[in-house]
Amino acid sequence: MSQAEETKTGLDRREFLALAGVAGAAMAAPGLFLSDAFAAGDPLELAPLPYAMNALEPVISAKTLEFHYGKHHAGYAANVKKMVPGSGLEGKSMEEIVMATAGKADKAGFFNNAAQCYNHAFYWKCMKPGGGGMPTGKLMNAINAGFGGYDAFRKAFVDGSIGRFGSGWGWLVQEGGKLKVVTTSNAETPLTQGATPLLVVDVWEHAYYLDYQNRRADYVNAFMDKLVNWDFVAANLK
Ligand code: MN
Repeated sequence: MSQAEETKTGLDRREFLALAGVAGAAMAAPGLFLSDAFAAGDPLELAPLPYAMNALEPVISAKTLEFHYGKHHAGYAANVKKMVPGSGLEGKSMEEIVMATAGKADKAGFFNNAAQCYNHAFYWKCMKPGGGGMPTGKLMNAINAGFGGYDAFRKAFVDGSIGRFGSGWGWLVQEGGKLKVVTTSNAETPLTQGATPLLVVDVWEHAYYLDYQNRRADYVNAFMDKLVNWDFVAANLK
């Protein structure tokens, strides 16, 4: 999606501040599943961030989250709500909309906005203040089995995410009982490829440019070392 398309659909300042205020006040319990976050009320409602806007500082600034969550993600969510009426997908969850629109040329805009909502909601939950370090237990065993050790996994995830050309996402997924690293372009998501997402890092420039400018590697390494919510990642294991 182009910057122009994103900007065109952005919220006005008043809406943005209202959203930012709600999110800033919310301190939801960590470890919620995505579907839980959407369970109350409208399934397409933008869920609050699971931490305050400044909670990930200094790794990710409040300014980045104000734009990233409050304008980019909120803009995608607003677009989906506009696209649902008359689409035949009324009452469906975000995941169901992603699956129903994937690969359909006439639904590309709908897919892009819904998949970006899914991916971002997942990304927020993959981080927590004071996160990072190493996973433990069943998840560590699965990483050892899939990659031959944590260091090899970390290298595959970081190198893949840094090397993703242009805008996209770096993922740890479970597929056929095995863990692997994949990257996706733009709004693409492993959901539509039969894989179960476990961990994601957003490598669109809007995720890191205010804090790291062009230094994507510094952002991805800091994400791994200081932000990953391994409890959430482990809870996604099937
Ligand atoms: Mn993003």
